[in-house]
Amino acid sequence: MRRKIEDTDQTPDLLHGQEADPFDPTLKTKGHVSTTPTVIEVDWYLNKHLGITAADLGNETMSLQGRIIKFYTTCDGPAIAERPTILFLSLVHGNEVMGLLALLQTARLIMLDKPAEYENQAPCLIFMPFVNIDAYTLNVESLKSGGPACRRTNLRETFDCDDGFSRDNPASCEPRAVGGVDLNRNHPFDWEKPPGFYLNEWENMADCYQECGSTYHGKEPWSEPESRAVRNVVLRYNVTAAISFHSRHNMLQRPLLIHPYTSLRSFRSMPLEDRQRFRDWSRKMNRDGYYVTGTAYEAIEYTAGGSTIDWMYSLGIAAFVIETVPPCGDRQSTDMDRWCVDIDDEKIWKEMLRHGEAGEELAKLASASSSSTSMPSFAPTTTQPTDDWSAWDPSDCYGWDCDTQDRSASIVYVLLALIVTIGLPCILCILLKSLQSEQRANYTSPPEQNDLELEEEDNQQEEQIELGTIT
Ligand SMILES: [Zn+2]
Repeated sequence: MRRKIEDTDQTPDLLHGQEADPFDPTLKTKGHVSTTPTVIEVDWYLNKHLGITAADLGNETMSLQGRIIKFYTTCDGPAIAERPTILFLSLVHGNEVMGLLALLQTARLIMLDKPAEYENQAPCLIFMPFVNIDAYTLNVESLKSGGPACRRTNLRETFDCDDGFSRDNPASCEPRAVGGVDLNRNHPFDWEKPPGFYLNEWENMADCYQECGSTYHGKEPWSEPESRAVRNVVLRYNVTAAISFHSRHNMLQRPLLIHPYTSLRSFRSMPLEDRQRFRDWSRKMNRDGYYVTGTAYEAIEYTAGGSTIDWMYSLGIAAFVIETVPPCGDRQSTDMDRWCVDIDDEKIWKEMLRHGEAGEELAKLASASSSSTSMPSFAPTTTQPTDDWSAWDPSDCYGWDCDTQDRSASIVYVLLALIVTIGLPCILCILLKSLQSEQRANYTSPPEQNDLELEEEDNQQEEQIELGTIT
C-alpha cells in the first residue's frame, strides 16, 4: 500500500519531483534515488512516503552532539508497551551505510507488500536508522566535500587520541578511525573480559580496552548516549525480535547472519530451546544459503563483548546481526566510490533487496511466534557475564552449516551417510556371497539331468496347451 505524499514542502532532493518509490530496486532508471541518503531524506522516506510514524524519547534518545536519534514506529496508543515489537537498527557504526540501505529495504518490503498483516494484531515495527547519527552526519558531509568517510565509532573525544588526526579531523582515515567509542561494544553483557582469559583471546582486535582502538568499549557499559538511546527504546517497548544491520569492509567477503553469542561465550551454554530457535530462524532467513550463519565465532572466528544483540538476548530478545557486503569495496576507503554512490550499480540494489527480504522474514517469524502464548520466546538463564561462564570450545559447531544443525546432529548425519554409502553395499555383498555359497552347497543334481527334467516339463506343458487345460 503506497501512501500519498502529503507534505511536499518538506520533500527533499531524494525524489526530484517524481512519485516513484526512490528505493524500488526494480526501477529501470534510478536517477532519482540515493545510496547515501541524509538524515532528512530518510526521515522523509520512512515518515512521509511509507507512512511510519516518527518518534523520539527526547533527551533519552539524543546523541553526544545533541542530535535527536529518531525512530519510526508502526504502532501507537496506550497498549504500546505490551505489544510485541520488532526492532530494526542500522548505523551503529557510522561508516556502514549499506546497513542503512538494508533497513530501508526492510521497511519498504514490509510496508508496501503486506501492511495489514503487521498493522493490526501483529507486532509493532520500530526502525531506528541512525544510531550513530553524529558519525554518519560527519561522514556524509565529508563525502560531499570530497573527503574521507570512515568514522566508525561515536564522536567521544578519547583523551589519548590527540595524534594530529582524530581530534582535529575526526573523519580522518589515517590512522583508521581512531578515537571515539564503539557503540557495539558498549552494552553490559560480557562487556568485561572474564578472569582467566587473555585479552587477545577475548576480543580478536584486542583493542576494546584501548581508548584509541577502533573497538574501544568505553569507560563503562552504557557510557555513551547513543547506546543508551538503544537501551531506552528497547526498555520502553516490548521488543521480542531485532536485527542490527551492519556492513563488512570487503566486497570479497560473504554476508553474515549472526545470532548470539557475539562474545566468546559458548553457544552450548545457551538453553537448548533458544539454540534451536536461533538455528531454526537463521535457516529460514537463509533459505538460499546467501549468508554465513551462526554465532560470531562460528561464522567468522571473531568475537565482540558488550554487543547490542548479546545484551538484547539477555532480555529474551531474538536478536540478530546482518553484516551486509558493500558491493563497491572497502568501507574504510577514502574513495567515494567505495560508499556505493553509483546509483545505477545493479549489485547495490540486489544486495540491499536480499537483506530487506531477510528483515521481512524475521518480521514474519516473530509475528507467527507472537501469536503463541509463550512470549517472550527467549528466556536466557544466564544474564551475568561472570556466572557459569564458559568460553567457546572446539566441540561447538563451527562452519557454514551451523544454521542447519548442531555438531552432534551433523555427526549423526555423517555416520548415517557412511553407513548408506559404504556399509550397505558391503552388507549386500556379504549376503550375496553367503547366498551363492549356500546354493553351491545345496546343489546336487547334475546339469544333464536338470536339462532333461526341464525338457520333460516343457513337453508336458505343450501337451496341456494342445488339450486346452491351460488358459
Ligand atoms: Zn558494524
